[in-house]
Amino acid sequence: MITGPIKFKEAARRNLAAQDLRENLRRATSHSTTLRLKAVSAVPEWEDLRSEAHAIKKEAIDHLAEYLERFESQATEAGCKVYWAETASQAAEYVVNVCRQKGASLVVKAKSMTSEEMELNTALEGASIQPVETDLGEFIVQLAGETPSHITAPALHKSRTQIGKLFSEKLGMNFSDDPKELTRAARAILREKFMDAGIGITGVNFAVAETGSLVLITNEGNGRMCTTLPRTHIALMGIEKVIPRFDDLRVFLKLLARSSTGQKLTSYVTILNGPREARETDGPEELHVVILDNGRSQLLAHPHTREALYCIRCGACLNVCPVYQRVGGHSYGWVYPGPIGSVITPELQGISQAQELPFASSLCGHCSAVCPVKIDLHHMLLWLRKSAVDSALTSRGERWIIKLFAATMKRPGLYRWSGMLGWMVQRILAPRGKGLRVPCWSAGRDFPPLPKKSFHQLWEEGEIN
Ligand code: SF4
Repeated sequence: MITGPIKFKEAARRNLAAQDLRENLRRATSHSTTLRLKAVSAVPEWEDLRSEAHAIKKEAIDHLAEYLERFESQATEAGCKVYWAETASQAAEYVVNVCRQKGASLVVKAKSMTSEEMELNTALEGASIQPVETDLGEFIVQLAGETPSHITAPALHKSRTQIGKLFSEKLGMNFSDDPKELTRAARAILREKFMDAGIGITGVNFAVAETGSLVLITNEGNGRMCTTLPRTHIALMGIEKVIPRFDDLRVFLKLLARSSTGQKLTSYVTILNGPREARETDGPEELHVVILDNGRSQLLAHPHTREALYCIRCGACLNVCPVYQRVGGHSYGWVYPGPIGSVITPELQGISQAQELPFASSLCGHCSAVCPVKIDLHHMLLWLRKSAVDSALTSRGERWIIKLFAATMKRPGLYRWSGMLGWMVQRILAPRGKGLRVPCWSAGRDFPPLPKKSFHQLWEEGEIN
């Protein structure tokens, strides 16, 4: 829960000054974007798949109530217990109650951004239940006492050396920055936890209305351990995770792994249809599905931003965003960072709480170009900026500057005159051959020197043809 307005600018300034962090972000995001590009280039029908995915998501979101009810009915018939939570705290309370009823003092968790939204670990710890993150990235950030900085790669902000130091400090092992050794150490701890845990908690990548199936897409096998070893499994999903038909997975499975990690397919695709049946040898005895709204219905009602509900959480828009690449996920102040976070955080938490986020973008459009479900992210950010201005959430000085700029751009005479005025001011105030020093602006970049003649003058005088 956000307790006050998100201070993106302040956090971004701090993170920009952290050289290690910038290097970690640069290395990780450039690696991901290279892998994605290679994987996508090998699929000639990529654009057709994106259009198909967009159409399927549109159908699902346009008929959301209908598909959710069908999913609930199918999942219930398969033996699941379905709980509808309007708020994140209701969802967390339900999970805590199930843990209490089952007498579980230890739960193992697979990666779930919905559980971050619910602040589930805090709620469980408050009830003396120990949550253990079993995804390696989540395990690292839990050990560090941090939150994930990326949708699919929670510890992307850390280097191997930093992780080695963390393991040595918290787990008492000899320092090593060898990924294999670090993974082996984490695995040894986690195997024990899987065996002891009374409850496994996971997210959901897709919920199929037609069959009531839950689909989990993972790379480490921890999701499968969480869903098969403990006696009770609790799956957490936002209302937007529903898709109409089982056959739709054909499209999403091709898009998701390639967009996220550059893989053709993730190592594990787990499809669950209810809890263990009498004839089956493994699987949980009880399967609870928590369906969370937490502001998504409001998003659904907004024609300009409702397509944000099409998101399949691949993380591609984060990896290519020039802002995310430099400031990292923790600058965004809530669970979802990057361009998609800058759209959904103001919508789910209120624009007054997140007014700086729509401005955390260069509007280059790269996010929209890579999105596998064709979400028009940068135009949504532009619309949210307008919404912040209309709500008088930007500073008075900024509003005056924009009004002056708009008035100047509408009047050619005034525009030409202001160009000449600017050039004269520059001659008087700026050092020779250099740009003006403009308060705030020049603190982080150069103000380009104004030319003596405008493009219009050069054109009229025949210097351009
Ligand atoms: S908005 Fe698109 S690119 Fe970004 S995480 Fe969601 S699906 Fe991926």
